[in-house]
This record gives sequence, structure tokens and C-alpha cells, in this order.
Amino acid sequence: MNLHEYQAREILRRHGVPVPAGEIAATPEEARAIAARIGGGRPLVVKAQVHIGGRGKAGGVKLARDAAEAAAHAAKILGMTIKGLTVHNVLVVPAVDITSESYVGIIVDRASQRPLLMVSAAGGVDIEEVAAKTPERIYRAPVDPRYGLLPHQALGLALRLYRDIAQARAAADIMRKLYEAFYAVGASLAEINPLATTPDGKVVALDAKVVIDDNELDRHPEIAALRDDSAEAPSEVAAREAGLTFIKLDGSVGCCVNGAGLAMATMDLVKYYGGEPANFLDIGGSSNPQKVVAALRIISADPNVRAILFNIFGGITRCDDVANGIVQATGQFPLKVPLVIRLTGTNEELAVRILTQAGFAALTDMDEAVKQAVAKARAGRAA
Ligand code: GDP
Ligand code: MN
Repeated sequence: MNLHEYQAREILRRHGVPVPAGEIAATPEEARAIAARIGGGRPLVVKAQVHIGGRGKAGGVKLARDAAEAAAHAAKILGMTIKGLTVHNVLVVPAVDITSESYVGIIVDRASQRPLLMVSAAGGVDIEEVAAKTPERIYRAPVDPRYGLLPHQALGLALRLYRDIAQARAAADIMRKLYEAFYAVGASLAEINPLATTPDGKVVALDAKVVIDDNELDRHPEIAALRDDSAEAPSEVAAREAGLTFIKLDGSVGCCVNGAGLAMATMDLVKYYGGEPANFLDIGGSSNPQKVVAALRIISADPNVRAILFNIFGGITRCDDVANGIVQATGQFPLKVPLVIRLTGTNEELAVRILTQAGFAALTDMDEAVKQAVAKARAGRAA
């Protein structure tokens, strides 16, 4: 689950990281009022709150001299779209004079199977770009979760960023607090970019990004409550509410599958036969026609979808329930694209009877079904 910058800042602040205190505005007037209250006649920054990086380059982060200019910037930034996401809120925060920008981040690293602290003096910009072009400028320290980030590890990396020992100590302290925050909220990523130094020698966090591991949300209801549905893809919100595991992709073959493993195998096979999956969708193990109706509604709302493929292996899931779901759904909203159905396993004969009576063909062979779906998606695109 993604958090907004203002939410991530609040978490870091609670753990003692120095972050300038700002407030959220949904209108230019609110932005003006906040700026007048917290600005004290000094410059401010107005920042788009969307779940995406690179806002600075996209024009979503602007310096303002006073409250009037903050309101003008807010008017421009509110409602703008950055990489497909609409800006509903801006953060208004006192500006800091910057002398240097570094990167400090923690991820869960597959290779070392631990949290990994990464720092670079080449901060401010895309860290992915630094990693791709000048990987030697990134320094790393794996953290043993039994002991946490140790003082010598933090100071060792901080000395890669700053020659000044006071600044290095301040940065090391921030890294340890960042790790504590990362661990406390169940994050899969926590980063500060830029970690800035000021002309008077202070070290402060000017941006914050925290991604929560979805599996941790049950343990952290106060973090789960931070979810912003309006900032997510509507199809993913609808899927979560229907109890489906769904990830939207860019292809044209809509996939409706039971079980994550079969869903992955189905996507592989779609690619193998020259198609592109439009989504990952696992209707889960339970038998429930309503889930199938919800799944079909979500998949068929995607304008990129040119064909829909059902791939069901009936175990706990009963094929007849899926068949009933398909018949119900297509009765409620006629599909505009071809449907290819493959089902096998529990109550397969009954399912085939239900589908045939309703005018659908049902296959049992997975390769054959995928080939047909890919071909139909391709024909649909040509049409
Ligand atoms: P991002 O582009 O989405 O990562 O947004 P950031 O919050 O990192 O802001 C982008 C850039 O704006 C930073 O790298 C800074 O150069 C600049 N910026 C952000 N806050 C301040 C500030 O308080 N003062 C100054 N001078 N620049 C800032
Ligand atoms: Mn940033």
C-alpha cells in the first residue's frame, strides 16, 4: 500500500526524523491560509500529493515567495495529472535553503533476505537512474533484523555522504530513526530523497516515501486507515472490495483465474502464444458466483481488453459455481468482447451443461483455450 508524502512525513516525524512541518490543502484558498499561518513571510514549497515520484520534474513541486504565490501555485498543481494520477491535495510547507541533496532509503532485499539500507550523495534525482548509470555511487548495508541498524553501520554510510563529522552524526541518527519507522509500520520501502543540508549545517528530510507491505496491514489498523482510495486505480479498489486479488496490466487478454499459481501460469502461456495479459486476477479458492460477476465487471470495464479468458481448475472452487457466475454476469451486462472458457475438475460436467444451455462453449484444454483467447484478442484489435 502506498502512502502520500504528507503521511510518510508524519510517520518519520513521530520517529524523530527532522522534517519541516507542513499542512494539506485541497483548494488554492486553503493553501493561501496555511501559507500565511506557517510561512512567517518566508518562502514556501507547494507539493502535489500523488503516489508517484518525479513530481519535481513534472511541475508538481514549486517554490513560492509568499502566501499569494503559494495560492497561485496550488491553483496550477491541484487538478493536474502526473503520470496518469490526478492531484487532489497539495502539501504546503516552509521552504528550506539547500546546500546539498543526498539519498537515503531502506528496502526489503531479496538477495540478502534482509532490510537493506542504501545511501548516495547523488540525491535529489531519480535513484533508479543513479543505480543504472553510476551504481558505484550507491553504498549499502544489510540490516540484521535481530539487532536493527547498528550505530557503526549508520555512521559508516553517513561518512560516505558527509565529510563534516557533525553532519555525518546527524545523518546516522536520521538513518537509525528511519529504520525504526520502517520496522514499526511494516514497510517494504522507506526513503528520504532528498536528505538535504542547509547553509547553517543542519541535515533535514525534504521528501519522504513509505510503502507498506500489504501483509502487515492487519497488524497495523492505524496504518491501514491511511489508505487513500481516490489515489488508486478504480479497478484495483473495486477488486479489493470484492475480495479479489487483482493487478491491472497493459495487455488485451483479460484473465479470470482461480489460484495465484494458475493465474501466473496462465499469464505466462498468454505471453508464450504471443498475447499480452490485461490483468492478473485470482478469484480465490472459494466457490461464489458473485465473485465471478464482480471479476467480469472489472475486467470488461477495461477498454484495452479485446478478449476474456477464464481458466478454472476446480478443486475447492466448483466449476458449476463459476459457470453460474458467468451466466449471471452476462445476463446483467452483455459482454462486448469474446469470451473463452476453460474449466476442468470439480463439477466440470455440470458446468459444461450450464454453459452450453446458455449458449457458451467450454473447453477443457488449457493450451487450446489460451491460443483461442490470444487469437480473438488479436482479431478484435484489427477490427
Ligand atoms: P519528487 O520530485 O517527487 O521526488 O519531489 P521532492 O519532494 O523530492 O522535490 C523535488 C525537488 O524539489 C527536490 O529534489 C528539491 O530540489 C526541490 N525542493 C523540495 N523541497 C524544497 C525546499 O524546501 N527548498 C528548496 N530549495 N528546494 C526544495
Ligand atoms: Mn523526492
